[in-house]
Amino acid sequence: MTDEYPETLALWRCIGCGAMGNAAECAGSCAFAKSFVVEAARYADLLEHFDALRARVEALRSWALDLCATEGFSALAGLRSGAKTLLAPVAAPPLFAGDEEGAEIWRCATCGQVEAFRDCLGVCIRRSGAFVETSDCALLADEIARLEAERRGLAALARQVAWSSPKPGQGEAMRLAFRREAARLVVV
Ligand SMILES: [Zn+2]
Ligand SMILES: [Zn+2]
Repeated sequence: MTDEYPETLALWRCIGCGAMGNAAECAGSCAFAKSFVVEAARYADLLEHFDALRARVEALRSWALDLCATEGFSALAGLRSGAKTLLAPVAAPPLFAGDEEGAEIWRCATCGQVEAFRDCLGVCIRRSGAFVETSDCALLADEIARLEAERRGLAALARQVAWSSPKPGQGEAMRLAFRREAARLVVV
């Protein structure tokens, strides 16, 4: 996942019939290909969730690395309060349905002209807006799903570390088991 933003298309859209387009002049022979777009705000929502989730996963990874570096059972105590902080609730990942959420457009690969005609119901009322392709949203939604899976695995370990207390004499064995699990989770 890079931090590059997707290409944004400035398009008008009729709020009545859904026709869409832009003002690009064709440079010659157009080669239109179909794609799907959603309002750029949709991408921004996903990105906001992605950023928050990535920050949480990075904090959990760093906590797990600290756990891997512990020596002796007493060192575990220091990781308990950190674990509790990292278990604060996170928002449910936003769902993205893919192309079905988008509007179909035809876009020229040569000049960038966009057309999406509909049968107009009457007088067109055009609003301009920024759009992004659904494929860009889908990539981000996949990254969110991957991060969420990683967060769940690390949070399960953090929960155990935060709330378990060993039977007498088994503290070191417990620490070693936690450390093994932490190493398994951060190496993947
Ligand atoms: Zn063209
Ligand atoms: Zn219209």
